Amino acid sequence: MKPWEANIRKVVPYVPGDQPKGSHLVKLNTNENPYPPTPGVSAALKEMDYDLFRKYPDPASSVLVDALSEYYKVDRDEIFVGVGSDDVIAMAFMTFFNSDKPVLFPDISYSFYPVWAELFGVPYEKPALDENFKIVKEEYYRENGGIIFPNPNAPTGLYMPLSEVEDIVSHNQDSVVIVDEAYIDFGGTSALKLTRKYENLLVVQTFSKSRSMAGMRIGYAIGNPALIRALNDVKYSYNSYTMNMPSQILGAKAVEDRAYFQDTVEKIIHTREQAKLRLHELGFTFPESMANFIFASHETARAKDIYEALRQNSIFVRYFNQPRIDNYLRITIGTDEEMEALYCFLKEYL
Ligand SMILES: *Cc1c(COP(=O)(O)O)cnc(C)c1O
Repeated sequence: MKPWEANIRKVVPYVPGDQPKGSHLVKLNTNENPYPPTPGVSAALKEMDYDLFRKYPDPASSVLVDALSEYYKVDRDEIFVGVGSDDVIAMAFMTFFNSDKPVLFPDISYSFYPVWAELFGVPYEKPALDENFKIVKEEYYRENGGIIFPNPNAPTGLYMPLSEVEDIVSHNQDSVVIVDEAYIDFGGTSALKLTRKYENLLVVQTFSKSRSMAGMRIGYAIGNPALIRALNDVKYSYNSYTMNMPSQILGAKAVEDRAYFQDTVEKIIHTREQAKLRLHELGFTFPESMANFIFASHETARAKDIYEALRQNSIFVRYFNQPRIDNYLRITIGTDEEMEALYCFLKEYL
């Protein structure tokens, strides 16, 4: 080994889902929204002033913070925005998880959490989900240096009622508890209503799933102003100009059209409930999903084989080769047409 090699930081990176190229494929592998963003977003994009490209963006992302403040009826100093919720959560790890005690997150959950913990040198423990993939709230009553979990959980899709989320937050008032609500708009009740009751609670959401803007990279956190100030201090110490101006402007536009948003989310929920019936008929079982995906296992066919066969036919779903979940497929809810293509192939294949 060369001397300089000894000083290289070794990390096992997070592996994002494939972004295959081509037009005739059915892409159900990264939980993107199959519908376009609001008409207001495309109109604003057409009118965009290219002088924005020349100048540095507003480091405080004021237009977007103002729009979120209006939408969620919270003050501007209760909102932090970042380049996707991945950026927000990475900042939160750096800002809040600096204890010698372990940070807690579920053993089966968003696979980025252990990657950030390793990257930032944060000790962690992974309390196991129960045999039905449910988060066991009592597992989070032990000593810890912070807590993070998604609700609904990923990749299971299981939703934890707000009363149980509150139990976890209230039992841990000496730690920061982060609820990652990437999928909350697809049917759950947000913990946002608790952020003024618990100063240790940070709720993180994203424009990537329910708002059809994964490519624009917009995420945000809402919580007590002291938490938000701390996040901003770390952000400004790391990279002040994180979010580009088009994302700020188009993100602000996206929250204006509530009717379109409601409509899109309802279409996806409807397709998801259909998918539960259809997949069940085809011999799949799955936890009750409240997200825009279903985590399914087949009674006889192996998940890996189904995954490969689908791929051969340009239908992409997500497969995780990990303990406890290596016989499951995570299937994003697409349009009704895309889902029909999936059922049609599965019927033949199985
Ligand atoms: C998709 C997802 C995110 C990250 O989304 P961004 O595109 O970075 O906003 C965070 N947490 C969970 C659980 C997710 O599924």
